[in-house]
Amino acid sequence: MGEFDLIRRYFLPVAEQQGHPDLLLALGDDCAIQRVPADQDLVFSVDTQVEGVHFPRDYQPEYTAWRALAAAASDLAAMGATPVCFTLALTLPEANESWLEGFGRGLAQAASRFGLALAGGDTTRGPLTISIQVHGTVPKGQGLMRSGAKVNDLVAVSGTLGDAGAALDYLDVPEPDDDERALLERYHHPLPRLELGLALRGFASACIDISDGLRADLGHILERSGVGATLNTSLLPLSGPLTRCTGERAPRLALSSGDDYELCVTVSEERWASLPEGIKNQLTVIGRIDGGEGIRFDGGAVANSGPQGFDHFGSNS
Ligand code: ADP
Ligand code: MG
Repeated sequence: MGEFDLIRRYFLPVAEQQGHPDLLLALGDDCAIQRVPADQDLVFSVDTQVEGVHFPRDYQPEYTAWRALAAAASDLAAMGATPVCFTLALTLPEANESWLEGFGRGLAQAASRFGLALAGGDTTRGPLTISIQVHGTVPKGQGLMRSGAKVNDLVAVSGTLGDAGAALDYLDVPEPDDDERALLERYHHPLPRLELGLALRGFASACIDISDGLRADLGHILERSGVGATLNTSLLPLSGPLTRCTGERAPRLALSSGDDYELCVTVSEERWASLPEGIKNQLTVIGRIDGGEGIRFDGGAVANSGPQGFDHFGSNS
């Protein structure tokens, strides 16, 4: 099967299944064409996943595709952007048809779930690597950035933390129990908080998605904003499956393990009071921004030591 047959067979159907009115021209030409409405800013980001680094070797192709698109879409969620389209640069060791079939299926499911149209890509031979560039839009000037956190803002996170990280221990369990299965589902099928990101526009002073762990990612907000934070570790949102499976390790996983793709936001008290109840329900306040440097903890349970989160060029010790 040649490169063009491969694209026609496995990727053209994904593009045909999920379009977008602003994507005027999708794959098949030298470039795609996206129209950006005059009142919108274009928001874009690229994300790479390497076999054996971001996902296990011999990992199911459906999950590989879903996770790659989810990770990229999560960056749009963190900016409060509406998803429009994406390009896919795929490096494959070989044209394995059953792998490609599964990958195409997972990609189609994720594309339709996240509202992202496949605009084009590039296909090359080499170690399995998936790079996805996502494009979204926000009303001019309204993108949520990391740099706006102010002293006294509340720090809040969506959903529950630590589940995807805990799942790493169960990837090879032949018959996982219900709790293990729930954790595995968080790892295999992360759900970027796209709607929540949109709803937080005009409310959040800063926002980031938690891909490398809360400690590391909140750390990026603090650094970009020139502030510190104090977190109450007893307030960390932990799922039932996480606490049942990992016991006293749970808070540590919630702080330092990645791949949950929840949002971490800072919101002034005043704006928090005006947040619709349906949005507040999706968030848990875990601390407050202060004038210090880095993160301090109260509430016990987790010491100020241990891994900070995933860093490709750090020691991760
Ligand atoms: P070019 O040589 O102009 O870069 P290619 O031969 O790489 O074009 O690709 C041909 C067409 O197929 C382009 O429109 C490109 O966007 C699309 N394409 C290639 N690989 C992929 C892929 N993995 N997924 C989606 N579209 C792809
Ligand atoms: Mg090319």
